[in-house]
Amino acid sequence: MSDRVLFLDIDGTLRPHGCRPADGPWAEARDGVCPDRVALINALADIPGLSVVVSSAWRSDVGTMGALFRQGLAIPLHPAWRTTLDVPPRPGIRVRGWQVERWLAAHPAVRRYAMLDDEDEFPQRLRPRLVRTDPFVGVTPGHVEALARLLGG
Ligand SMILES: [Mg+2]
Repeated sequence: MSDRVLFLDIDGTLRPHGCRPADGPWAEARDGVCPDRVALINALADIPGLSVVVSSAWRSDVGTMGALFRQGLAIPLHPAWRTTLDVPPRPGIRVRGWQVERWLAAHPAVRRYAMLDDEDEFPQRLRPRLVRTDPFVGVTPGHVEALARLLGG
């Protein structure tokens, strides 16, 4: 049973700006995840009960799942693999945090979670669980260590 969740952003984490295709249609770019960054987060695959929930804008396309695994992702996706596409009912609410909290409310069995994201769209109460990347660099070994501390044990 999955009781630990990594909320995964993609642009700026697994696909830093330095890895973007210089040209080509967006549909091709979707598979442009950097395999070396995927390999880094695969170090988390040993954590028992860990699964991924996609919080990225990529989640609007079900092809996201295939793209992630074609690039070597070794952590399973949660059966409820993405956060809601709904947006907050009124302005002033941090969108991604609201979406993560809605997902968590629907999955009370989750004991540990963390977010990997290059932007801070989260309320203060979620920030201790946020591992934030530089969008030009993406995820680094240091970020993976921080995620392992939040998700392991
Ligand atoms: Mg991003």
